[in-house]
Amino acid sequence: MLESKLVGTRKNLPKGAKAVLYALKQAPEMLSARDLCFRMKLSKLANESVAPGLTTVYRSLELLTRLGLAQAVSVGDSEKRYEAIEEGEHSHHLICKICNNNIKLKDCLLSSIEEIILREHGFSVSEHLLELFGTCKSCTLAANASGVVADQIIKLERKTGEKK
Ligand SMILES: [Zn+2]
Ligand SMILES: [Zn+2]
Repeated sequence: MLESKLVGTRKNLPKGAKAVLYALKQAPEMLSARDLCFRMKLSKLANESVAPGLTTVYRSLELLTRLGLAQAVSVGDSEKRYEAIEEGEHSHHLICKICNNNIKLKDCLLSSIEEIILREHGFSVSEHLLELFGTCKSCTLAANASGVVADQIIKLERKTGEKK
């Protein structure tokens, strides 16, 4: 539905999509369409030009995602979050269910799995989505200040530290 009308290419983005991409690149974190729209309104107030409406923001994000210039991330609620990405790249996030903070993983951990899938099933994966949900370190530490889980984390950190 939403994606039907707005067309464009990476080189020839509609004006609204350009503005959305620019705003997305400036954003310090992943944003929902609604939050992005709000941010754009705030920044436009300063220079008096007109910010795109929510519908344009939604459509532009759809387009940017389709063109591989933005990535949509499901964080567990109904609103997707978006972030700007470099062409051909993608990222994965660890999302804390307590504080909603997210940590972007530096590397894609799935390429080896894709190799196994190709080998065992003859299936070549062209794309994948992976977000990992759980409890971040500070929430875990806060919840278990003197508990067992905190000890486990410290042990784990020692282990990974040793490997390096
Ligand atoms: Zn947390
Ligand atoms: Zn990946």
